Amino acid sequence: MKYDFLFKRGRIVDPANHRDFVGDVAVKGDKIAKVQEEIDDSLSEQVIDISGKVIIPGIIDTHCHVARPYAKGAGYRMLINTGVTTAIDFEGPIEVIKREITKYGCGLNVAALEGIFPENGIESQDPPLEKLKKVINKNLDSGAIGIKILGGHYPLTPEATYNIFQITHQEKGYMGFHVGTTETGSDILGVEEAVKLAEGKPLHIAHVNAYCRGYVEDPLLELKIVMDILKKSPNIISESHLAIHNGCYGGIDENGIPISYVLRNSLKANGYQVSKEGLEEALRLKYAGVTALVGNQMEYIYGSEAIDYWKKREYKVGVCFPINRRRSAQVCATERDKKGNFVIDAISSDGGAIPRNCILSHGLSLVRFCALTLSELVQKISLTPSRMFGLKNKGCLSIGADADITIFDPDNAKVAIVLIKGQACMVSGIIFNNPGRLMVTERGAKKLEKQEIPLEVINLEDSLYFKGKGGEGKQVKH
Ligand SMILES: [Zn+2]
Repeated sequence: MKYDFLFKRGRIVDPANHRDFVGDVAVKGDKIAKVQEEIDDSLSEQVIDISGKVIIPGIIDTHCHVARPYAKGAGYRMLINTGVTTAIDFEGPIEVIKREITKYGCGLNVAALEGIFPENGIESQDPPLEKLKKVINKNLDSGAIGIKILGGHYPLTPEATYNIFQITHQEKGYMGFHVGTTETGSDILGVEEAVKLAEGKPLHIAHVNAYCRGYVEDPLLELKIVMDILKKSPNIISESHLAIHNGCYGGIDENGIPISYVLRNSLKANGYQVSKEGLEEALRLKYAGVTALVGNQMEYIYGSEAIDYWKKREYKVGVCFPINRRRSAQVCATERDKKGNFVIDAISSDGGAIPRNCILSHGLSLVRFCALTLSELVQKISLTPSRMFGLKNKGCLSIGADADITIFDPDNAKVAIVLIKGQACMVSGIIFNNPGRLMVTERGAKKLEKQEIPLEVINLEDSLYFKGKGGEGKQVKH
């Protein structure tokens, strides 16, 4: 047979090739073989009618979390169920991903940035340069494609932050930053500082919407300030998400104070005491929730159930607050510069094992609201993400591209079929648990050769991140 799969009569949305029409898509092996209005049924092993559904290049989630204690692979399942084919984990640990990806991976392509914060590689907020060099090199050798600083949660000094940027850049790693240092916070002042510390070099600023919560100025003014900064900074790559909930670590230090600065601010924002007792009160009154494994997925639990869960695990659980503003989510997802290019490159989930995998469900709401066209949504959740990380064979349905495909019902955002590299990975909620594939750079591949983890080598030098956006008007072109 000429083809393995033939998807018939779907709405094909493929912005890289300026396609938006009802037609057929054929797959052979792990590649897209043909896309046109009608392809002969007799040429394919399997013919699947997808009338009424939309078929797009697989969703690339540019910021999520699959490696979570207690999740038992739930992150992978939740991603595949919401149509994601490629996931960039924004914290690691890479060692957990390496341990789990063959068992739980659901066929997903996964790359990871390794988080650097006190108790994960370093001892203090101001570690010596030599120590940082050692930790960063170790992580890049173990298969992480880059480094993440979780400044908002665990701030480091501006000097340490700057040094991590510099070393990661020298070592050709991808640098992700949740803004904030000991001098600023997870807010617009943190964004201003981050751009200064980057000194024009590439930097990925995570979840921009989360810095516009009204902590410094009126949130509308904060949005204006952040957009103006980003418009002037072509070296900054960024994404935003559409979820209401944030995600923090529920841990408490020896003085009875929550360790995460984001958690402290979330308590403060609604008038709760910044202490273990304050958090317990917020959990009791259901302002805060705890993320817990319920059945085979992670869910939010509240009230006494949440308090028991949090205490039983010595506070080492994920805690969330409904603190992200809708207005900030909408503006970050849709704002453009004068040339019509999106200011923020991608829509991510910041989900995975955190239950906020709403890229498609909320993204389609923006389409219904006419804030984005369907083609623009695909640009922000597949095409541009592929360019951000130099994934040349993804993000489009070109002949010869990887057969990473998401098929969904546009009315209810239900994902019907997910194909990754030509393999059926999820059909109508049934997951075929294929091993995942770890995406690594040449450097990581060398060290991982002997381990039995399926690998895909990527070249970050071809990425939008390293090549830059070249100023306004020169964003993603195919
Ligand atoms: Zn995150």
